[in-house]
Amino acid sequence: VFRNKLTFFAAAKISSSFPAPEFPEIAFAGRSNVGKSSLLNALTRQWGVVRTSDKPGLTQTINFFKLGSKLHLVDLPGYGFAYAKEEVKEEWEALVKEYVSTRVGLKRVCLLVDTKWGMKPRDHELIDLMERSQTKYQIVLTKTDMVFPVDVARRAMQIEESLKAKKSAVQPVMMISSKTGAGVRCLRTALANIVKF
Ligand code: GDP
Repeated sequence: VFRNKLTFFAAAKISSSFPAPEFPEIAFAGRSNVGKSSLLNALTRQWGVVRTSDKPGLTQTINFFKLGSKLHLVDLPGYGFAYAKEEVKEEWEALVKEYVSTRVGLKRVCLLVDTKWGMKPRDHELIDLMERSQTKYQIVLTKTDMVFPVDVARRAMQIEESLKAKKSAVQPVMMISSKTGAGVRCLRTALANIVKF
């Protein structure tokens, strides 16, 4: 499925403008600058469709992409953007929360966490919400090339330990580097298996 062409087809600032859930969806969430756009590019091997940037917080909408005519990939706005106004932050967060807890056809949320920094309060908040709404999610550690392999393993173990009692968490924690490509194929296979065609 990841060989299909990626096309952007909708952006939503409010839930009433979410497109019809015609295909299964896999969504990507995480703090801004976590490497979400880079991962979407690496997973689909299509560069330029999802914008990457050094300016965190540029994505203020939920962006919907079609992968061929079988699957939607959904780019959720990054949270925790330091420079945004408080009310704007609250709006984005409310939108993300509404999406992950109510979206029909949502098969999996990949919650991206920077390997170096680990999980932050906003990540835990989203996890608690997904547990309450029984949304299946999995943690994807990003930018593994930035830390020593032993620290990547330690971080993954620490997170797996903290997720043990969680019902909607899908194990194991995946580890990727969009820069070197490490772990990307593995994640691609895991995600393709959710929506087996
Ligand atoms: P987003 O805000 O979550 O969409 O993050 P981006 O994909 O735009 O990446 C934010 C910054 O992190 C950019 O400067 C990227 O070049 C960098 N980045 C993303 N993925 C990786 C990675 O796997 N390794 C390294 N070293 N840098 C990365």
